[in-house]
Amino acid sequence: MNPRLKLGALIVSCLMFVQNLGAMPAHNGHPGGIAVIALPAQTQSAHYLGNAVLITGPLSAPVAIVGIGLDVSPGITELTTNRGAIPFEIKPKSYLTEHITITQTEKVNPPARDYDRIIRERDEMSAVFKSFSNQRPDLAFVLPVIGRLSSPFGKKRIFNGQPRNPHSGLDIAAPEGTPVLAASGGEVRATGDYFFNGKTILIDHGQGLITLYCHLSDIAVTNGQLVEAGQHIGAVGQTGRVTGPHLHFSVNLNQTRVDPALLLKIDQ
Ligand SMILES: [Zn+2]
Repeated sequence: MNPRLKLGALIVSCLMFVQNLGAMPAHNGHPGGIAVIALPAQTQSAHYLGNAVLITGPLSAPVAIVGIGLDVSPGITELTTNRGAIPFEIKPKSYLTEHITITQTEKVNPPARDYDRIIRERDEMSAVFKSFSNQRPDLAFVLPVIGRLSSPFGKKRIFNGQPRNPHSGLDIAAPEGTPVLAASGGEVRATGDYFFNGKTILIDHGQGLITLYCHLSDIAVTNGQLVEAGQHIGAVGQTGRVTGPHLHFSVNLNQTRVDPALLLKIDQ
């Protein structure tokens, strides 16, 4: 190859790598956060707490993007890889508590007749969260809806005086019918009208990175459909367990819900 062309190609490939790095979330080693860990060259697989972890960057300088569960205790932990164990630290973080009044009391304590449905829907979603394809996801996320950030990830929630799981996503309030966009390219892996989440879409972006869009008024995609980043996939609604129209947006890495704001690169 002509040396000038060769230099040009090298510059282009370096720029692409820098762009890729720019798309990565910042390291945030807290429960509910994302640890960004440089791996030894040639690392091809990594696991955290037994779950396969997303790896990006070139094989000469790979980087692990690790979801840390809200329930993980602070301290030193480790990634296991084909190049050995890599320790990293989880630092403590405290989240606020939110009291919510739900007027549909059956959505707080579901009647027994809904148990089978709730379990079936939970299993359907967790099967998607468990999938790990070799597709490399684009980590430069698009904001899925323009609106007001109405409830951050991680808030401890008390429904009608009863403690429930902490908030596993980010809520963005917007009028009913506001378009909802795919945060990144991927494959639609499930759609449905679920008991708690209402009308819902799950998109698999590859390597265990899965996004969830809930409480929609309309679903504009079908199971198995490939979507691009920013593609219109549905509309904001108030289906399922809600107090008003909003998008509940959740991000899952290595079967763990993490703070979507870290990939959307928004301050709260
Ligand atoms: Zn929510």
